This record gives sequence, C-alpha cells and structure tokens, in this order.
Amino acid sequence: MAERVEVLLTEKEVDERIQAIGEQISKDYEGKEVHLICVLKGGAFFMCELAKRITVPVSMDFMSVSSYGSSTVSSGSIKIVKDLDDSIMGKHVLIVEDIVDTGRTLSHLMKLLKDRNPESLALCTLLDKPDRRVVQVPVDYTCFQIPDEFVVGYGLDYAQRYRNLPYIGVVKFD
Ligand code: 5GP
Repeated sequence: MAERVEVLLTEKEVDERIQAIGEQISKDYEGKEVHLICVLKGGAFFMCELAKRITVPVSMDFMSVSSYGSSTVSSGSIKIVKDLDDSIMGKHVLIVEDIVDTGRTLSHLMKLLKDRNPESLALCTLLDKPDRRVVQVPVDYTCFQIPDEFVVGYGLDYAQRYRNLPYIGVVKFD
C-alpha cells in the first residue's frame, strides 16, 4: 500500500519548542544535576536535542522496554529489554519520552523507577495524545499535545522507518 507523510509540526516549530522546554527545565533544576533517562528507541533524537539546551549539569542513561502481549495494544505490563547502566538512587531523574499515548508503558516504568529511590522523578515528553489516555500519568513537561493520529519522525517510526525525519508527520495511506 502506498503511503505518504504529511507534515504536522515543522522542524522549526519543534526546535523552538524544545528550546523553550530546555530553558524551563534549566530554571526548575537550578543548583541541581539532572539525570536524563532516554526510553529507546523513540526518545533518542528528542533527548539529544533537549540535552543540548539544558544549562545545568546533565548526565544520561538509556533504557529499552517492551510491553507484553499483543503488538497493537499496549498490555500495560512491561519487560525490560535493556536496563539502565547506573543506579538512580539519590538522583534527580527526568524520563525523556517520545510520546505518551495510553500511558500504560510509562505508568509501569515510573513505578519501577520510583522503587529504585531517586531523589526526584519527573517526566518530559515530546508529544502527548491526551484523548488516548487510559492510565493517568503525571506529565511534567510536554512539548506538544496532538490529536489521535499515528505520527512519525523525530525518533518515531512506522515499521522502523521515518525515525530520521527532522519534523513530525502523519502517515497517510492512499
Ligand atoms: P503507551 O502510552 O500506549 O503505553 O505507549 C506509548 C508508546 O507507543 C510510545 O512510546 C510509542 O512507541 C508508541 N506510540 C504511540 N503512539 C504512537 C504514534 O502515533 N506513532 C508512533 N510511531 N508510535 C506511537
């Protein structure tokens, strides 16, 4: 089936918003060190761009999780595919996500990380689809709220493609 990608948020819009969120985070964490946790693979592009705009000291780690059960519906129970390299005990942890959809994955991930006793735990997402929420998760920083459409780009894929698009697009099937 032929598919095309329609621009939803331009590269300029995304860059400007990440700059603003980076400045806000720098203010909120003044005098502290922030430990960014990237949820692979989708969060990678966003985390790198965000980290460059944060002016307080930053450290980073990476984690990969997958949900159990059907591939199309997030089951809400997650499996750690790649765990963090370092302990988060006593750190100011900021999870960096590509998108919050039903909230199931993040709600599990946040519980799991809270049990490891960070000093604080917050969540920053590039995109949020509030209409799709099933489980409430406290989102501290949101770059954009978007409608319920399947989006790609800036780390987000469709069948592993389009992650490298420098903008956010909607996949359309003709
Ligand atoms: P949930 O919040 O439902 O547990 O799952 C969130 C995950 O679903 C995201 O991290 C992302 O991998 C995937 N996801 C949700 N909506 C979209 C979308 O519009 N596009 C893409 N590429 N992935 C999505």
